[in-house]
Amino acid sequence: MTTIESKMDLDSATYKTLLESTRAIPWKIDWATMQFAYIGPQIEELLGWEPSSWVSVQDWADRMHPEDRDWAVNFCVAQSKAGVDHEADYRALNKNGDYVWIRDVVHVVRKDNGDVDSLIGFMFDISERKRTEEQLAAARRELEELSFKDGLTGVANRRRFDAVIETEWDNACRNKQSISLLMLDIDCFKQYNDHYGHLEGDQCLKRVAKLLTLAACRPRDFVARFGGEEFIVILPDTNETEAYKIASRCRDLLAGEHIPHKGSEASKWLTASIGLSTTIPECGEEFVPFIELTDGRMYQAKQRGRNTIVND
Ligand code: GH3
Ligand code: MG
Ligand code: MG
Repeated sequence: MTTIESKMDLDSATYKTLLESTRAIPWKIDWATMQFAYIGPQIEELLGWEPSSWVSVQDWADRMHPEDRDWAVNFCVAQSKAGVDHEADYRALNKNGDYVWIRDVVHVVRKDNGDVDSLIGFMFDISERKRTEEQLAAARRELEELSFKDGLTGVANRRRFDAVIETEWDNACRNKQSISLLMLDIDCFKQYNDHYGHLEGDQCLKRVAKLLTLAACRPRDFVARFGGEEFIVILPDTNETEAYKIASRCRDLLAGEHIPHKGSEASKWLTASIGLSTTIPECGEEFVPFIELTDGRMYQAKQRGRNTIVND
């Protein structure tokens, strides 16, 4: 039988040449002594450390990122002891002080009696793949953040509001705490656009969003753009009196901006109508009627001549 394999069996020099011409770096560790029996010369090109400097597994562990060391060493030792082939990704220290992401693929070689004889493996440079993965993860995080943000004003969007109201409502139910909701709608905004143009209108929306975040500024206060020129603010753990203060602050801050509004029926400055509600929800109570109640109060504020707060 003259297969290629049987020919190569005779030619260990060919094996060596093959091993040392791959991009993967071969190595062998003697299990009894925990010393390197061999490491491919390619290691020097990748990490800068000469092959002769890889003496024991301690050198391998020492040249690992401190954050990866414990788990990688423990994992590899445990798998090897159990005689299980395995692989581990970790950051290896380059001689110049940088780190390179490595995938170490390990095969456990056993003696005839079943005891572990040695470990052989290949180290692969996976830094390019890791970079791509990190870029993808960052892009995913950014996309997720964008999907919850209103593109114009930068505050949360309606989708985010739907999630946050549910959480805060549940919190309020569980802790028997009050929760307040503020709905704000800019007065005569159609006329504002008609008079000053849509782009100026956009600037107004940004300013209103900004001042709402200034007025409702405790860590769990939450401001979202509810629709076109309507904003909604969730005020967790906030009673009626406190909520009214925050609503007044919104109104005062807006007044302080002195944004001219020639087409308004309510004032010569840009104003808004605010609906405000506070409750301590019962367990099992739905939050939609609470939003509707607040919306109804905002509508009443419009009917009472705008530029006002209605909370009953
Ligand atoms: P009211 O005082 O009763 O609230 O009257 P209003 O004119 O503010 O309300 P209406 O609902 O009639 O009009 C809302 C206007 O808001 C119309 C719409 O063009 C404008 N709007 C909605 N979204 C945007 C936006 O993103 N940018 C700008 N510039 N305008 C917007
Ligand atoms: Mg509106
Ligand atoms: Mg309006």
